[in-house]
Amino acid sequence: MKKVLITGVAGFIGSHLADRFIKEGYKVIGIDNFLTGRVSNIKHLRNNQSFMFIEKDLGIEEEFHIDADIILNFASPASPVDYFKYPLETMRVNAFGALNMLKLARKNNAIFVQASTSEVYGDPEVHPQPEDYVGHVNPVGPRSVYDEAKRFAEALSMSFYREFNTRVRIIRIFNTYGPRMKSNDGRVIPNFITQALANKPITIYGTGKQTRSYCYIDDLVEGIYRVATMDEIDGEVFNLGNPEEYTILQTAEIIKEITGSTSKFEFLPALQDDPKRRCPDITKSKRVLKWEPKIPFREGLVKTVEYFKNNG
Ligand code: UDP
Repeated sequence: MKKVLITGVAGFIGSHLADRFIKEGYKVIGIDNFLTGRVSNIKHLRNNQSFMFIEKDLGIEEEFHIDADIILNFASPASPVDYFKYPLETMRVNAFGALNMLKLARKNNAIFVQASTSEVYGDPEVHPQPEDYVGHVNPVGPRSVYDEAKRFAEALSMSFYREFNTRVRIIRIFNTYGPRMKSNDGRVIPNFITQALANKPITIYGTGKQTRSYCYIDDLVEGIYRVATMDEIDGEVFNLGNPEEYTILQTAEIIKEITGSTSKFEFLPALQDDPKRRCPDITKSKRVLKWEPKIPFREGLVKTVEYFKNNG
């Protein structure tokens, strides 16, 4: 039986990856310290023979002895609210956690997938963003704890690839949404749905003219599964996201409509260094992975709203 190690397994994306790999016949070994992940996300796997869990903080340099064919390195706070709250933990896990897992991947000759982010492009000056755009990041701004940590994890991954031929693949994940997001994690989709369901004001930071492009979790997981299982893509970087772009105001209007909410819009000050436009160029992922998102925004939102209604 093939084995996959998933760090950050109790997180939103990590827990969905565990489900997918178990479904595909893998044994999943999951690691999490529950800093921002939740027990409830992996509760259903507790008695599953194909799942093993290790509670551990990856934020110190340490040698691991785990047999794995694939390592998916997803441990990190990922919501702006979370990484503003845990700046040092975010930097530690993206440095030492990535180093620990890269060393383990090298030892096992395992495939190593580093979860990176569209944040490495910063507040982009190129639109949409292809993988070879090097970004526009403020290294001392409030978001740098995440942006630079992920950029470091990418650089470290590429060093292992160049130095030791470690089987590295990097994915840059754009805004993703779906069941198992925390209602209070501060990101736009959970915030707006929670506010709309309670008929409370929908909080719009700045003008609401900034854009994001939202990928439903099942589409993202399919992309990650391909990156983790394909041959001959070592050392490659892939954007994974949905290229359909919406302003924050449009996002609020759609969510208000789907929930049948009477919420009003409340305009609050813009966040510092908030990217003004974000949209993935997925030409490379389409060509190499034969992947593109399939789930329309409204359809994914309906499923997500259902989750928040039942788990609010
Ligand atoms: N946003 C907003 N109201 C909220 C939460 C977020 O207007 O209650 C905006 C935020 O300013 C940003 C966008 O929505 O422009 C996406 O923010 P999110 O925190 O989801 O993640 P980001 O894409 O910035 O990493």
